Amino acid sequence: MTLPRILLYILLLNARQNTEINTEKGIVVPSETDSKVSNCPFCLWLQGNGTKPPVVYEDPNLIATLCESPISKGHTQIIFKKHYHQLADVESDDAAKLGALMPVIAAAIKKGLGAEMVYVACIAEEVRHVHFHLVPRYDGDTKGFVHFTGDRIQLEDVDQVLDSIKQNIVAAVRTNE
Ligand SMILES: [Zn+2]
Repeated sequence: MTLPRILLYILLLNARQNTEINTEKGIVVPSETDSKVSNCPFCLWLQGNGTKPPVVYEDPNLIATLCESPISKGHTQIIFKKHYHQLADVESDDAAKLGALMPVIAAAIKKGLGAEMVYVACIAEEVRHVHFHLVPRYDGDTKGFVHFTGDRIQLEDVDQVLDSIKQNIVAAVRTNE
């Protein structure tokens, strides 16, 4: 399988177990409370509490959902089911599974929705549970560099977007079997 061109931006936060704002770097270091599973919105819906976003893919280690506050059409997030506080904590088995899945989902977004590229970012600052944003970029879009604090879109056709990505994930998995 030809891997899609992926522009990889990984921002690894050097988080510590206290509350502090580093005004030089602009990084908000999480408090001990923010870092706990019991306060994690992803863990809440993973455990059946709260509303789970629309799911495009799921296996025992990972779940991929549409982002509820998308930057572009098909903006998907890949989330470890295990609560990792930051990227540096991720165990090798989970990392390997993520590495195999990420291009499959990126390819499905490209094929299903006609995206030109898929950007990847891992920030885990607003939600302290490691997850990866796959942000589709389209020919002629004017977003420039993706700004996570910038404008979000209202996704009108959730079901159609979901199906477009899911069908191509299934097709990719079958091709690799
Ligand atoms: Zn969590």
